[in-house]
Amino acid sequence: MMQEPERTCITCRTKKSKSELFRFVELNGKVFYDRKKRMNGRGYYICQGRGCLEKCLKDRSLKRVFKNRTIDIDELKELLTFGGVV
Ligand SMILES: [Zn+2]
Repeated sequence: MMQEPERTCITCRTKKSKSELFRFVELNGKVFYDRKKRMNGRGYYICQGRGCLEKCLKDRSLKRVFKNRTIDIDELKELLTFGGVV
């Protein structure tokens, strides 16, 4: 049986299976929300649900992780408003 790999949420540092996390990918110095969890590049994970995403937007932990790279904050906000957020 294949075990699902675990990843750590960059906001709360909790380990969860990939299916329970949003994935973000760094590509050419920009950060993208990886909707299908299939993009190449280094991945970062945040818990699904409002809590960690909102916290991350607030304290900018994602920005800290990605240092000075561009992150699409609008896309994060869209995530909060629409799909996938419980
Ligand atoms: Zn979390």
